[in-house]
Amino acid sequence: MNKQKRNTKTKEMVMNVLNDSTSALCHEDIEKSLSGKMDRVTIYRILQGFCNDGKVHKILGDNGKTYYALCNCCSAGNHQDNHIHFRCIGCETISCLNETVVPPVLPKGYRVSGFSFLISGYCPNCITH
Ligand SMILES: [Zn+2]
Ligand SMILES: [Zn+2]
Ligand SMILES: [Zn+2]
Repeated sequence: MNKQKRNTKTKEMVMNVLNDSTSALCHEDIEKSLSGKMDRVTIYRILQGFCNDGKVHKILGDNGKTYYALCNCCSAGNHQDNHIHFRCIGCETISCLNETVVPPVLPKGYRVSGFSFLISGYCPNCITH
């Protein structure tokens, strides 16, 4: 297999992991799902590429971990930061919710280049169990 082909294959593997998940995944989750088939650096580089291409977006959790998500807005290749992220403290997942938020109006002189909205609590699954 030539290098180009191998690169495409590894990208596909990471994309499939994100695709199969209903919630956002942190680096360790992705590494675990690939069960040692890829090293940290490769995974990191692929994720970074996806983020740059707008295929995947990053979420910084209030637990200090970075999560990667493939959501509806990302699958259109044009990620938007205008939706709510929910972190369940019961099952420790972060999900992209469809609910959109409008950025607050800041004092004069500030210019917004991005924002994120994170709520933590319990997801419907954890409340019913
Ligand atoms: Zn997105
Ligand atoms: Zn939960
Ligand atoms: Zn999201």
